[in-house]
Amino acid sequence: MRKYNFYPGPATIPQEVLERFREEILEYGDAGASFIELSHHSREVLDCHDRVVAAIRALLGVGDDYYVLLLPGGAMGQYSGALLNLAPDATVCVAVTGHWSNIVADEAAKYSKIVKCVDTMPDCTTLPPASSWNVPDDARAVAYVDNETIQGVEFPEKPVVGNVPLIIDQSSNVFSRPLDMTGVGAMFACLQKNLGPSGMGLVVVRADLCTAPSPQVPRVWHYANQAERKSMVNTVPSFQLRMLEFMLDWTNAQGGLAKLGETNRAKAQSLYSCIDASGFYSNRIDAACRSRMNVPFNLADASLDDKFVTEAFATGILGIRGHFTVGGMRASIYNAMPAAGVDCLVEFMREFERTNG
Ligand code: PMP
Repeated sequence: MRKYNFYPGPATIPQEVLERFREEILEYGDAGASFIELSHHSREVLDCHDRVVAAIRALLGVGDDYYVLLLPGGAMGQYSGALLNLAPDATVCVAVTGHWSNIVADEAAKYSKIVKCVDTMPDCTTLPPASSWNVPDDARAVAYVDNETIQGVEFPEKPVVGNVPLIIDQSSNVFSRPLDMTGVGAMFACLQKNLGPSGMGLVVVRADLCTAPSPQVPRVWHYANQAERKSMVNTVPSFQLRMLEFMLDWTNAQGGLAKLGETNRAKAQSLYSCIDASGFYSNRIDAACRSRMNVPFNLADASLDDKFVTEAFATGILGIRGHFTVGGMRASIYNAMPAAGVDCLVEFMREFERTNG
């Protein structure tokens, strides 16, 4: 039986999306083969690519001045790819606000001169305002992770850093609310939270910033070449591509990003209210930057953690344990988590507190 899936990624996928794939697993239309058996040079796959790119452009409101790329290497591949294309050997600021941005800083230091314009490690409970960040005059870009999946810290809005292009990792909150692309040099995300299965990286990047990549940039991450070749410099992961199309259709069917933004806020609010109203559960993150996507929380008595996870599973709740680096619990409530799933978790939490608190 399918349960409410709170895993952080790979994560829950709407049942109707899985069913659409099931319907065509043996044959895609009258193509004579499954989509994942068709050549990436076939008309069917190229058309799917074009529809996906058009849907992403429409959701973000960007035109040809941005490349929309679908690349191998998930999101982490772009920790190198973005630097090697946009700012090789240049000064780049990284806002270190959690696990993933800390890795960005490490990785970026191999290719660029890194300045940590802000660093909240190891606590990562707050986001100092961008006006207090140390951004040197020669900074070519400012990189940050919009939602720290493990700590559960999310930027309430885009930081304002003058005219320096932003490089944003939106892996765990992409398309969970509208994104104004003004000032964005590059936005990238893995698929496995809001956009389908793992293994592909979505990159939306300003074309004019990609004209002088490092000669060392791997072929598969050469943004300008990939744009020219419809992201088919190497064989596109076609399962991911088709599932991404289904997820984009589903995203639009929910009413688009503004509507999803409202729904996501309400779901998160209901979970945080349950935590805050209890003396048994706690969340350490500053209210202003609590994540709407990943809600970490602790039980007052950590020796009850295993029992909580086991009973949650029996109640229909999957994937609730926190990341091993921080412990406790984490509820990942991406776009595809229905409000009923959050209600089920809240009800379980109240009952667990009543019987164990
Ligand atoms: N950035 C963030 C914010 C993430 O949450 C993750 C994965 N959990 C990644 C990057 C890495 O994604 P991938 O493993 O697909 O490269």
